[in-house]
Amino acid sequence: MWDEKIEAMPLEELKKLQLRRLKKLIKFAYERNEIYHRKFDEQGIKPGDIKSLEDLSKIPFLTKDEMRNYYPFGLLCVQLDDCVEVHASSGTTGKPVVDVYTKKDIEIWADVMARSLWANGMRRNDIMQNSYGYGLFTGAHGFERGAHRIGALVIPVSSGNTKRQINIMKDFGVTCIACTPSYALYMAEVAEEMGLCSDDFKLRLGFFGAEAWSDEMRRKIEEKWNIRACEHYGLTEIIGPGVVSECEEKRLHINADHFLPELIDPKTGERIEEGEGELVFTTLTKEAFPAIRFRTRDIASYSEEACDCGRTLPIQSRIKGRSDDMMKVKGVIVFPSQIEEAIIKAGGSENYQIVKKKEKEMTTLIVRVEAEDEGIAKRIEGEIYTMLNLHIPVEIVKPFSLPRSEGKAKRIVEE
Ligand code: ZN
Repeated sequence: MWDEKIEAMPLEELKKLQLRRLKKLIKFAYERNEIYHRKFDEQGIKPGDIKSLEDLSKIPFLTKDEMRNYYPFGLLCVQLDDCVEVHASSGTTGKPVVDVYTKKDIEIWADVMARSLWANGMRRNDIMQNSYGYGLFTGAHGFERGAHRIGALVIPVSSGNTKRQINIMKDFGVTCIACTPSYALYMAEVAEEMGLCSDDFKLRLGFFGAEAWSDEMRRKIEEKWNIRACEHYGLTEIIGPGVVSECEEKRLHINADHFLPELIDPKTGERIEEGEGELVFTTLTKEAFPAIRFRTRDIASYSEEACDCGRTLPIQSRIKGRSDDMMKVKGVIVFPSQIEEAIIKAGGSENYQIVKKKEKEMTTLIVRVEAEDEGIAKRIEGEIYTMLNLHIPVEIVKPFSLPRSEGKAKRIVEE
């Protein structure tokens, strides 16, 4: 284990540690941030009222919409001068969700990621190709930090340009790949087209996250690449990737010394002790942007039973569902609002439709735009490429041929 003292800590001791940290956090947030202060006051809660882990349920939830309302720095509990990094998730319709980090927050992030990658089997002599997109998104940065902490070699290739990815993987003797699961399968297809097979690579581990993927898909990736495919889970609102560590038993141990999990009934908000429900997290140690009772909208089950790996950290199942409107195309995250922006930038009409097709495990997109003139298609494709580094074909259709809606426009259709 990377940190046996914590990872194999008796559950009772872990709960004591959590409570100590929780009390400190509640006091800290109450004193340092007016939004939290007001939220607690409205419920008539003072920091001293939190005497047990159960008392946490007295505190109101934090939702994604609230976080958008507090954009960008509303939940900050330290001076911005004390922060060293900021990340954000792309906003779909509204504003993005921002996360801000102090030096200590970054240290914690690196440490939980190292814990997680170590549990997956990464060691100092590994070479990791980091094919998550670098940028405001947390993914690539979390994996890089964890790998650095272990002392592995990182290739920050970022997403896109698949043939180049495959050449690098082969030429550099890459042993670990970090990307979305669908992109890993797409890369396998392209490698095949290039006349290569898994024997041409030294790959042995894959770190996959940022999208829901089935067990079947995991088996397929493992078979195609002849690797062990490991699951990663995280959220921008919490820290990024690094919320769980998947052990050799393929179970997801929550790094619960830093991220206190709760399970609730998504309809009533009542706490559930065991079984299936919505995951709620409280960041126990984050300084800049602590999240208190953040509703993830992710449905999973939770268990505190012992695991054969020896870790005592509680276990969450793989996510059963995630209500999100983001799409993944060749490993690149695409939001409808970005396509819309590109269309409009190119001078196109706001009457458009995104046609989503699932071929095998890969999502492909076609954009249909109403226009008189066919010539605009190339301009829109160019804008989309500039924005996303992706070739998405654009079809021009006759004006008024796309369905209209009186309420919210249905931009995405599945075919
Ligand atoms: Zn385990």
